[in-house]
This record gives sequence, structure tokens and C-alpha cells, in this order.
Amino acid sequence: MNGGSAAELKGIAVSRGIAEGTAYVLAEAGPLTIPRRAIDDGMVAAELARFAAALDEAECCLRGVHDDLRRHVDPEEARVFEADILLLRDPAFSERVAERCARQKINVEAAVADVVDELSTRFAAFDDAYLRERAADVRDVGRRILERLLTHRCEHLHHLPDGVIVVTGELPASATARMNLHAVRGIVTAGGGRTSHASILTRSLGIPGIVAVAGAVPAIKTGDALIVDGNTGTVHVNPPPTIRREYARRRVELAAYRAGLAPMLDLPAVTADGVAVKLAANVGTIADAESAKLCGADGVGLYRTEFDFLVRDRFPTEEEQYRTYAAVAAQMQPRPVVIRLLDVGSDKPLPYFPMPLEPNPALGRRGTRLLLLHPDLLRAQVTAILRLSATHPVRILLPMVSAFEEVAAVKAVIADLAEGLRRQGIAVAPDVPLGAMIETPAAAVLAPELAQEVDFLSIGSNDLVQYLLGADRNSREMAAAYEPLHPAVLRTLQAVLAAGRAAGRETSICGEMAGNPAYTELLLGLGARSFSVAPGEILEVKKVVRSVTVAGAERLAAHVLALRTAREIKAWCREAQTALAGER
Ligand code: PEP
Ligand code: MG
Repeated sequence: MNGGSAAELKGIAVSRGIAEGTAYVLAEAGPLTIPRRAIDDGMVAAELARFAAALDEAECCLRGVHDDLRRHVDPEEARVFEADILLLRDPAFSERVAERCARQKINVEAAVADVVDELSTRFAAFDDAYLRERAADVRDVGRRILERLLTHRCEHLHHLPDGVIVVTGELPASATARMNLHAVRGIVTAGGGRTSHASILTRSLGIPGIVAVAGAVPAIKTGDALIVDGNTGTVHVNPPPTIRREYARRRVELAAYRAGLAPMLDLPAVTADGVAVKLAANVGTIADAESAKLCGADGVGLYRTEFDFLVRDRFPTEEEQYRTYAAVAAQMQPRPVVIRLLDVGSDKPLPYFPMPLEPNPALGRRGTRLLLLHPDLLRAQVTAILRLSATHPVRILLPMVSAFEEVAAVKAVIADLAEGLRRQGIAVAPDVPLGAMIETPAAAVLAPELAQEVDFLSIGSNDLVQYLLGADRNSREMAAAYEPLHPAVLRTLQAVLAAGRAAGRETSICGEMAGNPAYTELLLGLGARSFSVAPGEILEVKKVVRSVTVAGAERLAAHVLALRTAREIKAWCREAQTALAGER
């Protein structure tokens, strides 16, 4: 493949479309392993020269982040990076590293790691909270220097050349938060599954994405010409002219198909037999909210607030959160915005939030459980949302609920904070609706009673499928077992939707299933009347909604629910779609 030879690789198509561009291969940013070796006297100068170069590079990267933040996010926020640059250039820090390297005759990576450990431990022991927090800054700056010494370079992410197709092993959420996404035409990962972070990201950016491409790294090299076919899951590496011509033709077809969706924009989401369906958007950034508005979303059904945390190098303050949420809500005004409380942990770790190493993070501290263990975090986020509730119709959504106590505990925090704000004369809406995500089997089983405790339910099918089937949503190896059309999933969806209906609570589906037009009719038949999907999927889903009847969808669902295997269910749904396409 190297040197421009052609190849064809297969993976799982997770975001439709066709992209053509140049491969940009990202090195993986896993935990750093620090080599430790003895050096001679004569090698000290060379080690220190490497250190000086690493400081220059790290500073250049920090300045890049600083400038980006100042221009695109918030000048206030950029100040943090000024402080990091000062820390990086602190002569006392450099002197300690140089001294340790020369005196102990060790390589400079080991010297940096030791000095960072020593300083951060010292800061962490202070009584003063401000000084204690500096420990994390020292570790972060240390990591930046070490990454340079070990040649992991984050400036690659900030300065991606235009028109690239990012190719990587795994794409952690923290890496995408730092990436110049405007430059990216497509994403290819060797790992991952349909609902892994990279997949959700490509759909929300509306760019083609393929995951689980075995051998993508190292088969694809930076600079290779790629065609990414997000419809078939094929990556063409250095394709010959015949393939290029074929794709030029397909792109024209695709553009015509997309243009054909445009009239949907002005039409209501109503089935052919007159049942209204709500089509809201899943967003993670202000830019997503802009797209949601352009696509005519009925509000935001799921605002994943993690991005605002991932884009920074420390927790955003309450004020920063308020401003970001207000900017998202302003895009949607007067339509409602469902703000999900921070769902970090498991597949969405926060680099600056050191969590205990757990043998199985997906079954560990995450979502609401984690927030309740960190009340400051919970309180800052809820306060920001409550303040916004005075001017915008916002709702609060709890991630990964698994027990009544969690709902009760968060409710108590919300009531306490709302009262405190009102006492200070700060306006808060009289009633901010609270919802629970149904994404654990426990929540699904308890849905009838949970529905009584909250104002609305939101089915997170990505996690629900993972936990119901015991199949990791991020694993390439589990991709075949991770099956949204598994009978256990469909029966659970039907039961939860019925529970919501019986309790008179709006129950939407916001996992990736909801945005797949191939599932729309079935979901309607199972009782879904409210969907929250990536902005780019709204019109496609609406098109299906308008072409089916609820009566027909219910017949489809009744038949499918009697089947015993996902294979039979898939075959039946395919037939139904072919029949439908024939009728259109
Ligand atoms: C889900 O699990 O379906 C969901 C919407 O949440 P996330 O994908 O962010 O975990
Ligand atoms: Mg989830």
C-alpha cells in the first residue's frame, strides 16, 4: 500500500456519504510509558537540547490552542492556556529537570516525569484549594512536554490540513474535542462500533465514517489518496481511475438524492394516516445546534454536554457552562432543549478528571452515579441550567439511571439549588422538567415506576443495547453481537414506550437507532412518537414518517415481535422496506 499502491478495505459504515481526500493517520494517544535509562556525562547536553526543543514545541501547541479558543470559544477560557505557558516556561521547573538529568544521569523523559511527580504531589498536599488545583496543571503541562519527547504531537490535531480523511486506531472523544473538525472530510477507524464516539461524531458532522476497518492502521499511510464510501463501508486506498470515475458518478447521484430531501424541510413530520411525530436533534456543540435549526428540528432532544468538558483542560466553571448552554438554547429558541447532565466515565473519560482505575469502566463509575459522588460538579452544572431556565425552555436529563435513589438524590439537589438561587434574587423557571434516560436494563424494568418520578423519559438505545445484550458498543469484535434488532431489545423498547404512554410521559428515543431511517417504521410500530437524531438525519427520518401509516407500522411491529431471531427480524424489515419503496 505504501508508495501509492491500490487496496480496498472493509469496515462498518456508520455515517452515509462519500468522501474523497488525503489520509491523515493519527498516532494513538494512550497512556504514556516513560522510558528510564542511564546516560553518560557526555550525553547530558544532548538530552537537555531535546528538552529545550520539547519546551518550544509544547509552547507552540499551547499557543495554538490559546489562539483557537480565543477566536472560536471564549477569550476568558483562553487565559488558562496563558497560565500553562507561564508554568511551562518557569525557570525553576527547567532547572530542576536539568539538575536531575545531570546529577542522576538519567534520560530527560525520566527526569521530567520525576519532577512533575514531585511538584504535583507537593501542590496536592496544600490546604489551600487554589494551590491544590495547581497539581493538575503541573501534571498537564508535564504530559505535554513528555508527549513531545515521546513524539505524540497534539498540534497535529489543531493544524490538520484541509480536506483530510482522519485514519486512526481508536478515536477518543478527548482527541476529537481538540481536532480542527472543519478540515476533516471523513473518518476511518480500525476499532469501534456503530455507536462508538467516532461514529456519533461523523453522523453529527454529516461526514462519511467507517469504523472497525481491520488493518486500517498501519495499512493506510498519511498522504494516501482515499475514497471513503460511508454507504457500503468500503475504503478505497489509492484507487485507480476506473474507481474514481465510478465514485464521481455516485457522488452526483447522492447530491441529487440529498437535494430531493430538501422539500421535506417545510413539511410537517406526520404519518400518512395523520399521526404527528416529534423530530428533535441530538447535539454536542453550538455548531450542531445551528445545524439542528437549519434542519428544522423540533428542539434539542439530547444535548450531550460532555463536549464542553472535553474541549477544555479543566472543568468549565458554572459561568462558562451557562454561556455555552445559553448559546445552544438561543439557536433553538423558542423550542425546548433537553440538557443531559455530564455523562463521563466509561467510553468518555475526561483526561483531567483522574478516576480510579476500574477493571471494567463500562460497569463502573459513570453518569448519574458518578455525578452524585462529585456534588460540586453536579451543583455547578445544575446551577448553570437553572439560571438558563429563566429565559429558555430547558429540561434536565439524567444519564445512566439505574435506581430510584439516584433520581431522588438529584431532585433534592435541584430543589435546593433552585431555592438558593431564588433567595439570591436570581430568576429560575417555576418548573424545570426532569427526565431519566432509559439505558440500563434496571431502568427499563423499572420504567413504569420511574415514569411516575420524572416528567419525561428518553431511551438511550446505544447503551441499552450494550447492557441488555452484554455486547460492548465500542468493540469491533462485538459488532455482530451488538444488534439493535435483537428481539430482547425490541420487546424492551415496546415495554418502555408503553410504560411512558401509560404514565402520560413523553418518551423519546435518542440513541443512534432513532436516526436510522431503516428502523423508523418499526419504531413507530413499537409506539415511538418522539425521536431525537443527528441533525443530518432529520429529513431522511421525516421522509419515512410521511410515507408510512401507523396502522401499517403496528402490523409490522406485531409480526416482528413474534419472531425469535434478529436474522429473521432483519429479513422481514428488509422485505417491508422493499415493499414500501415499491409503493412510493
Ligand atoms: C445512548 O446511550 O443511547 C445515548 C444516547 O447516550 P450516549 O450515546 O451519549 O451514551
Ligand atoms: Mg448512553
